[in-house]
Amino acid sequence: MSKETLGFQTEVKQLLQLMIHSLYSNKEIFLRELVSNASDACDKLRFAATQHADLYEGDGDLKIHVAFDKDARTVTVTDNGIGMSRDEVVANIGTIARSGTKEFFSQLTGDSAKDSHLIGQFGVGFYSAFIIADKVTLTTRRAGEHYATRWESAGDGEYTIEEVQKAGRGTEIVLHLKEGEDEFLNDWRLRSIITKYSDHISLPILMKKRAEYDDEGKEKPTDELEAVNQANALWTRSKSEISDEQYKEFYKHVAHDFEDPLAWSHARIEGRQEYTELLYIPTRAPFDLYDRDRRHGVKLYVKRVFIMEDSEKLMPQYLRFVRGVIDSADLPLNVSREILQQSKDVESIKSGCVKKVLSLLEDLAENRKEDYAKFWAEFGKVMKEGPGEDFANKERIAGLLRFASTASEGEGQGVSLADYVGRLKEGQDKIYYITADTFAAAKNSPHLEVFKKKGIEVLLLADRVDEWLVSSVTEFDGKKLQSIAKGELDLGQFEDEAEKKQQEEAANELKDVIEAIKTALGEQVKDVRVTHRLTDSPACLVVENFDMSANLERLLKSAGQEVKNTKPILEVNPEHLLVKKLKVETGGERFSDWSQLLLDQALLAEGAQLDDPAGFVKRLNGLMLTVA
Ligand code: ADP
Ligand code: MG
Repeated sequence: MSKETLGFQTEVKQLLQLMIHSLYSNKEIFLRELVSNASDACDKLRFAATQHADLYEGDGDLKIHVAFDKDARTVTVTDNGIGMSRDEVVANIGTIARSGTKEFFSQLTGDSAKDSHLIGQFGVGFYSAFIIADKVTLTTRRAGEHYATRWESAGDGEYTIEEVQKAGRGTEIVLHLKEGEDEFLNDWRLRSIITKYSDHISLPILMKKRAEYDDEGKEKPTDELEAVNQANALWTRSKSEISDEQYKEFYKHVAHDFEDPLAWSHARIEGRQEYTELLYIPTRAPFDLYDRDRRHGVKLYVKRVFIMEDSEKLMPQYLRFVRGVIDSADLPLNVSREILQQSKDVESIKSGCVKKVLSLLEDLAENRKEDYAKFWAEFGKVMKEGPGEDFANKERIAGLLRFASTASEGEGQGVSLADYVGRLKEGQDKIYYITADTFAAAKNSPHLEVFKKKGIEVLLLADRVDEWLVSSVTEFDGKKLQSIAKGELDLGQFEDEAEKKQQEEAANELKDVIEAIKTALGEQVKDVRVTHRLTDSPACLVVENFDMSANLERLLKSAGQEVKNTKPILEVNPEHLLVKKLKVETGGERFSDWSQLLLDQALLAEGAQLDDPAGFVKRLNGLMLTVA
């Protein structure tokens, strides 16, 4: 096939421009990215060769080679890993075929300081070569294939691709340096970058041996190579030999992340299963956290051979942000991924690792509160999926949950269930909460009025996942969770007899009005009754304890699901002037309009949409005219 010129996907062009500008101050990371890819390529080959040993083509000595040429002004990174076929080059290097790419680009602001964080989340990868190069030539041959592919681009919107010959399998990347980037044509500089960012790579990263000089001070030419890094898998070293910096650099490689991790746990487990785990909590959520086909997860190795990267088999969904490595000493090497995926042993390793992650988070929550708050802001919504998914660890996950509450400032979720229980009022035996579509709707809900009056704390739940959460966490520390928008209000001990008596009297007095409202509203409500929930508002809606909450019903409907309408109960505040006025109006010509307004405003206060908004406006206008 002859040489072809192809255009980059529009997004790639944008990404390149942005990357070059926003990462320029950190340009040396290009080498880390290329070495990281070379190492992944060798991992893939080693795994493929467990089934097809001939892929080694007689060369099982996997390595990475970094070289530079002062005259040609090039830096070259070579590996003898799996290589790429032509199609793979086009798919992996010419396009960003990742789900979530569109959303990612829509978030970019044009402010390079802000965008560089985003780029970090997206993963900079191969394209970082264009920070320092004005031309990149990639030549690659997939192990076992005959022909090789050459890809070349100046990073300006196009690339060429052609078929070539290449003796060794694997990938060679030649960076033709931009004017002014000569600092990288230097042995010492390249070595120090490798030690700084890539020391943890388990394969040797080779460079030409340092020059020796003869007696007359003349440089003795040598072609001998030596490894610049330690070249053993980082996780196999003992903790005391690993610096925080090394842990962090290793994280960036396994997680394809640009930022430091928030925390990590490194342990060798012995017993029925023998394995090493090195698991990290990222600082920031990756851009594809909610994508079904997200790419990264925890990596499974068996005796240092990479087997698979899989978020589901090694971590439950609610911990899908965890990154790192699990290296088993006793899983079989020569079985397929499919078999491993169903293996009971993998299952038991997974459950051990989940416990480790939960301990790590508990430790963070206990001893690094600010970091835990950061963690919660990034991953809290995902953690809230936990109690529904991981029954065995439900209690521990419940302990890690954080909420906004009427006892804390603002939307921030910082109140744990234990905090809440610690503040229970004398005689209070329930954990009260309200769910709503938005924080504002929760915080301003009329249902809160009596709780405010009595100084009882209520958790304010406004994340979509909260409805599912409260369906699985129904109690904590022996205290039931109770929605304040469900069932009859029962404040037990907090109601004094005088109050109760007063309420009964009010209810009696309003009997006829209540009946009349019920008749006026007909099928729209299940019941109308007097409540003492309210102090400022005339009315609110509740459902029975066993019914689906109105919020959940709205969520499901907006997600396109068919749900049966639950008829609400309209509760009215006997002390409110409007209700008193209604009493006077009973039997009047506007009574039915007024009743409807009472219901509609209660719906609006919940954040619901009215079935007949125009009717509402008309009635409201009519009412305003009578006042005017
Ligand atoms: P990432 O490493 O996060 O996948 P990169 O931009 O670094 O993203 O690389 C994109 C893809 O290109 C890789 O996933 C891999 O499929 C392919 N690739 C890059 N470098 C190599 C290499 N040296 N050998 C084989 N494949 C490579
Ligand atoms: Mg990469």
